[in-house]
Amino acid sequence: MPQDTAQRLQAVTLRIVNAARRADRPVPQLLAVGKTRDASELAALCALRLAAGEPRPAFGENYVQEAAAKAAALADGPIEWHLIGHLQSNKARQAAELFDWVQTVDRPRLVAALARHRPAERAPLNVLVQVNIDDEESKHGCRPEDVPGLADAIAAQPRLALRGLMAIPAPHPQPERRRAAFARMRAAFEALAAEYPQADTLSMGMSDDLEEAIAEGATLVRVGTALFGPRPPDNATRARAE
Ligand SMILES: *Cc1c(COP(=O)(O)O)cnc(C)c1O
Repeated sequence: MPQDTAQRLQAVTLRIVNAARRADRPVPQLLAVGKTRDASELAALCALRLAAGEPRPAFGENYVQEAAAKAAALADGPIEWHLIGHLQSNKARQAAELFDWVQTVDRPRLVAALARHRPAERAPLNVLVQVNIDDEESKHGCRPEDVPGLADAIAAQPRLALRGLMAIPAPHPQPERRRAAFARMRAAFEALAAEYPQADTLSMGMSDDLEEAIAEGATLVRVGTALFGPRPPDNATRARAE
């Protein structure tokens, strides 16, 4: 329902603006997370964001295949596409061709593969290093101590642009408890930006905890549910996402 989407977008925008004001920080970028949503839902939200004056709304997808289908369906929209799901090396070529940003770079092999496959006619691929900030066994992302090495490898690639860090903290039921992880990310980001001033993006915060993430310096929040409504309980999708 366009009306519902408009109201949700307005509510999310207000939350972001208010959180930034409270934290006395610039208003972060909104990444609309479209997993499980079809292209028409994305198109409706994109139209609203364009009407609100955003020149190039950012959308995030978890799967290369799903993103390719949606990007084809929305080829007219001036959308900035971000990959926010785990990337297998054998999909690096397709990802390097399709996306404007890859937020989930967590190993040297992926750096090399994305650089090799980024088409010469495109701008350098923007990349974020994904950090496993809670040191969870099952999670993707590099260890915090591996960030400098990966950053050096990315910065050495002219076909890649090192833009910062991304994290998905452990889903603690109390958002305040996630704030400690966000604070550790902020420290890691500040250390990175001191060395690489082009690193200007800290991607963290989702529907349930974007206020806490913004308080700790998020410059980009990734929001699905609060924009599109609850996802259908699709266990297959959930399992694939983890
Ligand atoms: C699904 C997802 C989000 C959005 O989560 P919501 O709680 O629906 O806002 C953000 N980041 C990643 C990596 C995701 O997979």
